Parts: sequence; structure tokens; C-alpha cells
Amino acid sequence: MTADGDTGTGDAVDMRDSGTGRTRGDGQPDDAGRAARRDEAVRCAVEQGLLGPAAPIVGLLDVVGIRESAAALRAAFDAVVAPGTPVLHAFAVKATPLVPVLRLLRDAGIGAEVASPGELALARAAGVAPERIVLDSPAKTPAELREALALGIAVNADNPQELERIDALVRTTRTASPIGIRVNPQVGAGAIDALSTATATSKFGVALRDEGARAWLVRAYADRPWLTRLHAHSGSQGVPLSLMARGITEIHALAEEINRRAGRQQIDTIDIGGGLPVNFGSDATTPTHAQYARLLAEAVPGLFDGRYGLVTEFGRSLLAKHGTVVARVEYTKRAGGRSVAVTHAGVQVAARTVYAPASWPLRIAAYDAKGHPKEGPEVLQDVAGPACFAGDLLAEGRALPLLEQGDHAAALDTGAYYFAHHYAYNSLVRPGIYGYAPGAGGGMRFAVVREPQTVEEIVAESGGGHTGALTAL
Ligand SMILES: *Cc1c(COP(=O)(O)O)cnc(C)c1O
Repeated sequence: MTADGDTGTGDAVDMRDSGTGRTRGDGQPDDAGRAARRDEAVRCAVEQGLLGPAAPIVGLLDVVGIRESAAALRAAFDAVVAPGTPVLHAFAVKATPLVPVLRLLRDAGIGAEVASPGELALARAAGVAPERIVLDSPAKTPAELREALALGIAVNADNPQELERIDALVRTTRTASPIGIRVNPQVGAGAIDALSTATATSKFGVALRDEGARAWLVRAYADRPWLTRLHAHSGSQGVPLSLMARGITEIHALAEEINRRAGRQQIDTIDIGGGLPVNFGSDATTPTHAQYARLLAEAVPGLFDGRYGLVTEFGRSLLAKHGTVVARVEYTKRAGGRSVAVTHAGVQVAARTVYAPASWPLRIAAYDAKGHPKEGPEVLQDVAGPACFAGDLLAEGRALPLLEQGDHAAALDTGAYYFAHHYAYNSLVRPGIYGYAPGAGGGMRFAVVREPQTVEEIVAESGGGHTGALTAL
């Protein structure tokens, strides 16, 4: 069994020939093509043994789809900015913290937004150049700040105390880092409280509407000629586009005010963050990056008139629709009149969905034992995970062709914030993750993105090297 298929080289990242990054003629993502590739990938994963009794769960990533999304994102903003505007699209690494994915995106012209030493290390391991990395964490240590400034990585200060630390560093070190301040425009919450970054009391950034905040910001820039950026990240899943645009309108107006006071274009770049919501209800890509870019161009024309460079930090909207978790149905049963399929995908790969199913419903696709889309009349059934608590359900009362033992259940649109975000409940192993792309002679070729975790690794990271530590104390 090889993860590389018949023609693979073992190189997890370079499958350049197999996808062109093309989108449909109208610049819209090819949703039908993506769904067809997904079906083919599930079938080939079963056929090639990536998925089977010994490997009952895998994560799959659509390399062609990721390239298409990267190209569509770039085209969306190229279409609205003045010619020659510097634009950096920095992928939010937390959405899919996998080195081969970051390399694929790098080669598609996308940088990285990082928020921890681990994420920075992933971006660097992927070969993302420092000038294409943005550091945004709300809790940067002095050591992290020093490293970022030494490397020339862009830094957005979250709060006045962090700015004081940066003050001390720029006094003593020369740095190529563009430095900005993150502002919370406080335009209000979206549908999911835990993900709403622009509420009055959000923990992120300088709260723009708080008393004295605006004056403090204007002063902070006036006192620091090296502050050249302004950052806001006010969108997320559940936030309407109009609200996101309001947040950007606010920070653009603030940039204009700061520049007016400075009598020069001190703020030369606006970082609009990410946060474009994803449609988890069907294969349609909606909203698109192009729709958002056009909305911003209408709502904030001054943003794109050539006086400001642009940074974006999209995560979920770039990757979500390109990932699929596929799990074997180990058993089926009936309980209280309900059909239940017990699969190998649950809270360990879909923590958000399991703990907050109303906010994070996932589509489930049924495949048969050979990985073909399952036919037959739909029956309401629960799709359960392997973890030992009752709520470990991927879907409850879902209408699907009746799943049987040995079939497969796939959780769709899980390329961001799902299978790369393993939750270690019940010491369940992290599944292997494979990228796929059409092979020259039909079928799909696979490349290893992340090896499946072994039980030995679980023991080792669970103190296996310190067995007698406590009894010896
Ligand atoms: C999480 C995050 C992003 C990406 O958000 P998405 O909703 O995945 O697009 C971008 N910028 C910052 C600062 C973030 O915290």
C-alpha cells in the first residue's frame, strides 16, 4: 500500500502538473468539478488501501481545488485594486496548519498569517519568505517580538502594552518589519458569539469606540513614524458581509484621519484580515472572494485607489471546501427507533460540530464499501463517532441512504478548522491526511500530507518515557 498511488514520488507537495489553478471562465470556482473530484478521491482512496479496515479514517485534500481558490482570491482583488498596488494575501495558518498546504499556497502566490511560535515555525518550514508573513497573536512574548523583528516579519500590535514592548525593541534594533496596530472597529457580533471578533468587548485589538481610544491611536501614530500599517480582522463564520465591510470602512476612515494629522501617507498599508464565511450547506462557493472584493470596492472606494497597499488574511474561505474526512462505518444499530451508524469520525476531528452542532452543522455524504456514492431511499439516521460520550455525533437525524457496516461516511467541507485540529479525547490517533489530484491515466494520485499517528506515538506523548515518575516521587 502506498500513499503515493501508482505514479507518486513520495513528494507530498509538488503536484504542479496535475492542476492548473484554473477557475471557470467567469472567475467563479468550479463547484461541480470539485464535487466530482471528491467522489473520485473517495473511491480511489478505498481502492488504493488508504482507507480500509486497518485505516478506518482519513483526511483528504483537493490540490486542484486549493489552487483554484488561491487563484480566484488573487484575481478577485486584482480586479478591484489600482494597478501597481502591493497586495499580500496571507493565509491564516490556524485554519489548516499543515506544512505541505502552506507550501502549495506559497507556490500559488499566497503568504502566511501566523499567531504563535508554532505557526511561525510551520510557515518557515514551508519556505514562506519572512516578508510574506504577518504575525498577529494577541499574546506575543518579548522573545516572539524580537524574533519577528529580526526576521523582518510584519507585526500587528494588539494593545498599548505590546506597543510599549515594540517601542523598546525598535529603539535598540534595526528592523525591516512593517509594524501596525490592530483595531477592533466594534461594529457588532455575527451569529456565532465565540467567533465574533468585533463586539464591544472582544479581546482583540484596540477597541476603537471606547472613550479616548481614537485619540490615543492618532497620538500613537504621530509619536511613532515607523508605524505604517493598520489592521482589523472583524469577520468570521456567521458574520454578514455588510457588517465586515462596515468594519473595514471604519479602519479606512481612521487611516485617513491619521494620515491627515501626519500630513503624509504614514499608513501605507491596510490589513483587512480574513473572516469570509463559508457555505456549509451545499457545494456552492458562496460568498466568493470576488463578491467580497466588489462589495468593499463599492463601500470603501478609497481603500483601493492606489494610496494603500493591501494585506488580507483569509483562512476558512480558502481551504474549507477542499477537505473531506472519510470514515468507515464500523457498526450499525437501532436505538429507540433511530438508525445509528457508528463510524470512526467524531469529536477528535470535528470538535466544533460535536460540541456546538447548531452552529457548525456539516454535510455528510454516504459512500458504499467500495467508495461509490451510496444510492437508495433516504432514512433518518445518526452518524456517530468513536468517542465514549453520548454526544459524539457528526450528525443527528440526518436523511441519508441507510448506512451499513463497511460503508463510509464523509464529512464534507472540513479542510479548515477540522481534521487538522485534532482533539485528543480517548487517545484516538490523528488520522493520516492525503492530498489528491487527477492522475494522467484517470483516477486519483495521492500524496502524504501528514502520516497517520501511531499508538506508539500516543504512548510517547502521554508520558510514556516517564512511566515511574510519580511512584518514585
Ligand atoms: C483566524 C484569523 C484569521 C482567519 O480567519 P478566517 O475566518 O479563517 O478567514 C485572520 N486573521 C486573524 C487575525 C485571525 O485571528
